[in-house]
Amino acid sequence: MNACSEDLRKEIIVACLRLEEMGYVIGTYGNVSARVKEGLIITPSRIDDQSLVAEDLVVVSLEGKVLEGRRLPSSELEVHRQIYVSRPDVGAIAHTHSLFATALSCLQETIPVIVEEQSQVVGGEIRCTRYVPAGQHRNLGEEVARALGQSNGALIANHGTVSCGRTLEEAIFTCRIVERVAQMRVLAGACGKLTLIPQEHVTSERERWLHKYGSAADRAVETS
Ligand SMILES: [Zn+2]
Repeated sequence: MNACSEDLRKEIIVACLRLEEMGYVIGTYGNVSARVKEGLIITPSRIDDQSLVAEDLVVVSLEGKVLEGRRLPSSELEVHRQIYVSRPDVGAIAHTHSLFATALSCLQETIPVIVEEQSQVVGGEIRCTRYVPAGQHRNLGEEVARALGQSNGALIANHGTVSCGRTLEEAIFTCRIVERVAQMRVLAGACGKLTLIPQEHVTSERERWLHKYGSAADRAVETS
């Protein structure tokens, strides 16, 4: 479990700047958090990534109580909090408004499993929430946790995306995969009818990626 170390705070700021650099977040439209022993540490409300310093990050308990910080936590705190409560395997979360995934969120449809990296990194479908009007934070948190289920990526209707990982690095990687899958969904959909990856292969690829990928055991399966 992470402590709220200076290193973790720096890692979160670097992740925010990276998301902005990639165009996944513009201004204050996005937020990043990590699980810590006190609960979670999250980016603050209404501070853009370029101005962010370590002391701006806010430590919040899993019950939603602010424990440390001079700023207000992100207004999307409830999205992060409810995911950490319902998914003990999640160690970090990033919420972005990346272009293709956000565009697809306006269809309010599930992105089915269409490519291998989606099976491996996201672990399944990328489902979409029902629309929740801005300001209904608790309702939004419930909707996102429900849409996410056991997957590592979800769309927030007419709003953006949420991506998770065991670590911050993995959560940011998942963001990139979710956006890439959304791009491929748009491109493939423009060319014809999608053929999906069968569920049994989604499950086995996810297992392989989590437990065997690149290991000697994986090679043994390959050559047997
Ligand atoms: Zn947002």
